[in-house]
Amino acid sequence: MFKTPVYPALEELKQPLSQEQLRILRDQLESEKPNPSAQTKFNYAWGLIKSSHHKQQEDGVQILTELYKSEKSMRREVLYYLSLGSFKIGDYTNAKRYVEALLEIEPENQQAKSLLESIDDNITKEGLIGLGIATGVIAVGIKPTKRSNGIEEWTVLASVVVISPDDQILPITLTTGVKTLPDKVRSYSNGLMVHDMHAEILSIRLFNYYLLTKDCPLIEFENGKYRLKKGIRLALFVSEPPCGDMSMNYISSSKEDNVPWEHSSQEEVNRGRNNFGNLGVVRTKPGRSDSLISYSKSCSDKLCLKQLTGIGNAVTSSVFDERIYLDFLVTPKVMTEDFERCFYDRLNLPDVHRLQLLTYDYDKYLFGKADHKTPSPLSLLHIVPTGFTEVLNNGVKNGAYVKNKPPRAGGESTICNRNMIKQLKSIKEIDFEDYLTFKNSNTTRQTLKKAGREELQDWICTSDDNFDLS
Ligand SMILES: [Zn+2]
Repeated sequence: MFKTPVYPALEELKQPLSQEQLRILRDQLESEKPNPSAQTKFNYAWGLIKSSHHKQQEDGVQILTELYKSEKSMRREVLYYLSLGSFKIGDYTNAKRYVEALLEIEPENQQAKSLLESIDDNITKEGLIGLGIATGVIAVGIKPTKRSNGIEEWTVLASVVVISPDDQILPITLTTGVKTLPDKVRSYSNGLMVHDMHAEILSIRLFNYYLLTKDCPLIEFENGKYRLKKGIRLALFVSEPPCGDMSMNYISSSKEDNVPWEHSSQEEVNRGRNNFGNLGVVRTKPGRSDSLISYSKSCSDKLCLKQLTGIGNAVTSSVFDERIYLDFLVTPKVMTEDFERCFYDRLNLPDVHRLQLLTYDYDKYLFGKADHKTPSPLSLLHIVPTGFTEVLNNGVKNGAYVKNKPPRAGGESTICNRNMIKQLKSIKEIDFEDYLTFKNSNTTRQTLKKAGREELQDWICTSDDNFDLS
């Protein structure tokens, strides 16, 4: 059936074969070993490239690269699919090189010409989107404080950005923060404290909150269910590579953070930067080695898992029909190798919505890490379309913190779990005894989370932060 290769449109390549169809192609290859024919190898590579698994697409490109070298007679079709395969895995440089080589052999090949146009379009478009997002977010970004003693602070800036169907870039959330609460806080938090205050996680939480605001312009409502308006794509901007696996090779400019912690064989988790050389593993948030332990997972790990579960939290997932995914991660100073190991290689499951990396080279953000600066203890929450602003300190509104206790009355953040539930109750009745029962009632989401955590391995859960809903 594959004797006469036809050049598919890009659209066709997006339709993966079923596992059964791919197995037939692989069995054929196996049965012809040790010397499978070039056509059999080609067919299998074609099936792999159509797959939605990044690893399989890469394997397909690998086989085609070998065929290109060994089978002169197949060069034309191999070049075309090599270009398509490289395009699909986001390797535009090679995609372009291959299709240009094909056009040298066949200058009038229309499919090759339109493929080249698509590649060029994407290179330009993605480069522009990355830069546009960085510029847009930083332009509206808010300044961290300079302490009265003159010490400058640094913090991470993050934003969930909407890319509208006509490619308009609209920052929705702006958040800053680099702190996490220790695990023991969960025993008395009672749903009133925000535990993970890393900027990117706060942005996602705040975006969830925004989705539940009355008349949110990003959503449409049908048959009692919400969904994101069609054609909207989401990007997450972060001014530093997310902590954890993705940034293990990234040399931070902060001396304190550059020192790997002593390895302790007693610990069952990869805490922060411990075991520096282990790549592709789940880690907890970095922090000082003498600080109380937090089991909160690194932003790399949390974001990786969201490629499967979507970014909807327990609350929004209960009213949204479809899962909401991020399409792009926009961050500077990242090596593709680190990104692919962190986000692709270790999460090979069906139904994964792959993040694409967009990098930018625009360093107008003035509050990044530097040796003479100290990390800001504050976090800022801001919703651009509504103007909502709140400042957090120690997981509660600035000024409302009480040591070893929940915050003073009214001092809880607008986006703590309790207030998220309150927001939900304003649009929907819910009848659950407590928060955990509510959360566990969404079995689809819980099953996905479990599968993802198992795939990533060594995912140590934080203690529960439960509270009454009655
Ligand atoms: Zn982080």
